[in-house]
Amino acid sequence: MLLLPDLIVGSVCDLTPELLEWHGIDTLLMDFDNTIMAYTEDVPSQDVLSWLESVKNSGICLCIVSNTKRGRAPAFAEKNGIDCITAAKKPFQRGVREAKKRYAGSKKLALVGDQIYTDVLGANIGGVFSILTKPIHLHNIWLRLRNDLEKPWIAWGRRRLRLDET
Ligand SMILES: [Mg+2]
Repeated sequence: MLLLPDLIVGSVCDLTPELLEWHGIDTLLMDFDNTIMAYTEDVPSQDVLSWLESVKNSGICLCIVSNTKRGRAPAFAEKNGIDCITAAKKPFQRGVREAKKRYAGSKKLALVGDQIYTDVLGANIGGVFSILTKPIHLHNIWLRLRNDLEKPWIAWGRRRLRLDET
């Protein structure tokens, strides 16, 4: 089912190097808005920055794959020494395809993002391990509405993952 994530976490910070390695993931593609940083923030939280450092130090490749064309995501990537693919057009495959080409030597790619209909769907269509995280901050009614529309899939995904564990 293309709208169901392979893994659900509360925050990117839950994706410790140990957990990623346990899943065999050596390249982590990351959505930017509301995954790394809220729309309303200018700087990421200290927790996110520490998490990024720990993953980078573990040797796992990190790459932002964002639908935005310019602005915050590439600036953040450059400042923090992380690869970045913009205008990814998730759930379409432009960015995912580019990432698969760029990391052709990787054993397993995963994509973490806060949206079912773009991030999870885009990852699943591309055959990339899909990880759903909670959006950092739903600051307006449209984001909240969109999130409401995703809730049945999130609930289904949670149920399926619980079943998988037993
Ligand atoms: Mg997002």
